[in-house]
Amino acid sequence: MKWRGRKRSSNIEDRRGASGGMFGRSSGLGGSGFRIPTGGRAGGGLGIGAIVIILIIGMALGINPLSLLDGSLGTGTSGNGSVSRPLPEAGEDDLADFVGVVVQDTEDLWTEVFVENGMTYVPATVVLFTDMSQSGCGMADARTGPFYCPADQSVYIDLAFYETLRSQFGAPGDFAQAYVIAHEIGHHVQNLTGVLPEYSRAIQSMSQEEANAYSVRIELQADCYAGVWANYVGEENLLESGDIEEAINAAEQIGDDAIQSRTQGVVVPKTFTHGTSAQRQEWFERGYSGGDPGQCDTFSGAI
Ligand SMILES: [Zn+2]
Repeated sequence: MKWRGRKRSSNIEDRRGASGGMFGRSSGLGGSGFRIPTGGRAGGGLGIGAIVIILIIGMALGINPLSLLDGSLGTGTSGNGSVSRPLPEAGEDDLADFVGVVVQDTEDLWTEVFVENGMTYVPATVVLFTDMSQSGCGMADARTGPFYCPADQSVYIDLAFYETLRSQFGAPGDFAQAYVIAHEIGHHVQNLTGVLPEYSRAIQSMSQEEANAYSVRIELQADCYAGVWANYVGEENLLESGDIEEAINAAEQIGDDAIQSRTQGVVVPKTFTHGTSAQRQEWFERGYSGGDPGQCDTFSGAI
């Protein structure tokens, strides 16, 4: 992706080097009435609890952070969380610049889409942190991977995750990294369109299995929105050879079936919260080929 020398978003909050800082922020949830498909499914049964490890803290607060992946990344790149690197390491400022440009592109895209739908896009804050940091959904921990917190409308990302993505998940490349951000911003869009508030409400009265199935549809829509963003980047002539393949490979590597077979050697579909490799690729590609968020309806019909 062509990104050097391009405009960076002003909505990046750099907490790298801070030690589990207490940067409390709060803001309301988004509204509704957007013509991007929303959906909403009937629930039933009794709620059981958290869907994935990262959700546990948030659930205690009544807030559901939305992640890129399911579960913990294991030892990964983070230490015990009590000590922070004092300064960004070599190459990380490049990475921070890159993130800023990608976020700016998402803002340009979604501002345009919201205007077309008679709404106003309020950008998310993207928080860069090291090891651990406070979020509106509890403690952000590098080991859980990037996530979106609806309560403070912020994306949290430890840039060391990108090394994990490359080495542990076999998903190298700058566009794989961009896909991660575009996916999380996709959750912010869902928050603004009312999809996330509806999801948080509905899963309270769902069984674990039903809530998992609902989560898959939420996550696949975020993948589709990431594809719409990739299409937008293509329209702006900013794609480079191999970019789309990098994103599609990343979607494949972080499918629930791929992760489960790698980490536990057995695949249990009813525990899926993000979708299979095939589903994640398919919805990214659907967003990419059409460039139309209206085609990202993961809530009606088969996925
Ligand atoms: Zn997600």
